[in-house]
Amino acid sequence: MDRMGCINMIVKLSKRLQTIAELVLPGSKTADIGSDHALLPVYLVQLNKIPLAIAGEINEGPYDAAVRGVAEADLSKQITVRRGDGLSVLIPGEVDAVTIAGMGGALISHILESGKEKLAGVRQLVLQPNVGETFVRQWLRANDWYLQSETILEEDGKIYEVLNSVRAPDAHQRNAELYCVESEAGLQIHEEMKLTFGPYLLFQENSVFEQKWNGELAKLQMIAKQMKESDSEQSKRKLQQFEEEMKQITEVLAWRQKARRSSK
Ligand code: SAM
Repeated sequence: MDRMGCINMIVKLSKRLQTIAELVLPGSKTADIGSDHALLPVYLVQLNKIPLAIAGEINEGPYDAAVRGVAEADLSKQITVRRGDGLSVLIPGEVDAVTIAGMGGALISHILESGKEKLAGVRQLVLQPNVGETFVRQWLRANDWYLQSETILEEDGKIYEVLNSVRAPDAHQRNAELYCVESEAGLQIHEEMKLTFGPYLLFQENSVFEQKWNGELAKLQMIAKQMKESDSEQSKRKLQQFEEEMKQITEVLAWRQKARRSSK
């Protein structure tokens, strides 16, 4: 009940935020960094899935929106909104889980790298990069966070990946196994490919994966076509790199199609 005696409505999340919410381990004190309207922490606390949350925001407008969102939900006792850059808003040991969603993968990795010491005591990271997922996988692997699951989803014409990782005493070994070289139906899947396409997503049957990588392929083909018209050395080098990327995407898509056919 809010102060007016009305029952507060549970906020409605997008499919993307809902996917993240479902992954947060029940009972986790949770920090949502780059929280904007604080929808995710409000939802998690309203559901009683988590006891308390911290919503971090660097920018004034989204910070004000978060403060308003928390006040409107009458959750100011359970959710603290803090203004600051990345993990700097946290005191080491005060949260169990951190969510960072809706930013580029390079920025997410930068936030994690520059605030590493604030991750003491954190058991789970749920990360949703809008682009540049490879940077996030690389950071997790390099810092011994075990990538436990990956989800790919489409919403309103956009495709998102959600990376769920946990601390584990044997994370280094488990990641080594996750990213090991595998030979499957004639394709050698090496570490770089797993970092790009996702070590789980590569093997999951989900047409959103095809949608994403066919789209990437079309984009690269368009840029490559323009580059072919240029004589500069830089363009030639870039073109070579793009051609390798296109070859890899084509190989992966063909391999998945073959795997699908043979499983029918
Ligand atoms: N997390 C919400 C979601 O997924 O719907 C909001 C995403 S919004 C596109 C990204 C938010 O991250 C913005 O509100 C921006 O102000 C905030 N942000 C960007 N860089 C940040 C940083 N270094 N530390 C904290 N917040 C940041």
